[in-house]
Amino acid sequence: MPVGRRLRRLLAPALTLVLLLSLTIQAAPRADKLRADAVALVEAQAQKLYEMGDWMYKNPEPGYHEFEAVKLLTGYLKENGFNVEVGVAGLETAFKATFQQGSGGPTVAYIVEYDALRGPGGKAFHGCQHNLQGPAGLGAAVALKQVMEKNKIPGCVWVVGTPAEEIPPPAKGKMLAAGVFDGADVLLMFHGSGTTSRLAPGWSGVTLDSTRYLFKGKSAHASGDPWNGLDALDAVRLMFAAVDAYREHILPDARIHGVITKGGDAPNVIPSVAEADFFYRHPTREYVDKMGERMANIARAAAMMTGTEVEITNYGKYYNTLALAALEERAFAYAKQYGAQAVDEEPKAGGSTDFAELSGKFPAISLSIASKPKDAAGHSVEAADATVAEIGHQGMLVASKVLASLGIDIITDARYLKSIKDEFKKAGPAPTLATYKKVVRW
Ligand SMILES: [Zn+2]
Ligand SMILES: [Zn+2]
Repeated sequence: MPVGRRLRRLLAPALTLVLLLSLTIQAAPRADKLRADAVALVEAQAQKLYEMGDWMYKNPEPGYHEFEAVKLLTGYLKENGFNVEVGVAGLETAFKATFQQGSGGPTVAYIVEYDALRGPGGKAFHGCQHNLQGPAGLGAAVALKQVMEKNKIPGCVWVVGTPAEEIPPPAKGKMLAAGVFDGADVLLMFHGSGTTSRLAPGWSGVTLDSTRYLFKGKSAHASGDPWNGLDALDAVRLMFAAVDAYREHILPDARIHGVITKGGDAPNVIPSVAEADFFYRHPTREYVDKMGERMANIARAAAMMTGTEVEITNYGKYYNTLALAALEERAFAYAKQYGAQAVDEEPKAGGSTDFAELSGKFPAISLSIASKPKDAAGHSVEAADATVAEIGHQGMLVASKVLASLGIDIITDARYLKSIKDEFKKAGPAPTLATYKKVVRW
């Protein structure tokens, strides 16, 4: 064996070790550099992102009617080289934009909402600040894509547009069932808030059912021949009386609230149709299901008492939120690093949102970054107005930088992604009646 080759063979293990060591040493600075690049690329889009949010503020569209918002958001994604499919899961205003670099690698999915609230007089408005979510998610997705392209980092970036967060039935559940999120490693979203905070790790939040009870009777002249009528409003009133009695015996953490959505048109006409719409909630799905059975029995009994018929429609189910420390803590640290306002160090519990269902199926985070004054109520005109002011622009841009940074970490750091997935697996199933007191906060 020639001396040169023998020497190379002797040195090979040592060279490998040196190479491995240098890779390890370089890993952290490289990640810092890539993240800094991504943040700069978000910053470079700032003006465009502000304009997008401002445009949606001026052109608010309620759930399932967000046609212009979808055109605006998907237009920007197409311009930036994403493949876009509109109308996924049979929902006209749902979309999925995808980008793939190389083969293999993790898939980061940014989730964006864009529906406005139905306001007084039927006028829509962005009181839940969903007009900031698209710009934040798109800014991050485009920045991450550009960093991956420049550095030949394999992986996928998705932007999934989920309509109608404010109106049941929950669109995300339908998209989940249709497999729209299948293949995603981590789901990332931002939601505007009065403070910058993080969720306490583990299961939290309140599960909820929304159900309509439509009673059908028979109209008649209320004075001339009331004996020919079957009063549907009587059934609704009896239902409310029975629910009030039931409320005394439900678990302390449970809630029931309802309104009458149809109650007749004139006092001198026996109402042939009347309708009640109820939400009932509890920290466990198990108990909400039990409440649902009792509510249905109450409605059927009210129908029986009045000789009417009842049609029961459950039009939305919400689930518990699963928060992962690996995502929450890092996102919170980045938010502070990038200058998020109104930082609240106290970890929070999740609320009732259709994002919660996704968090139980995939590792996921919905960031809360300050984007409105602390004392501005949720779903208020003041919250909507904040989206076009300095505070809204600033919060949205910080959120976009946090989302981009998390994307870089997930795509480039296999150990970090594994820690997220391990924590997700360890969380186990959502709380039951037997376990919820130990794990659920609200
Ligand atoms: Zn919202
Ligand atoms: Zn809302």
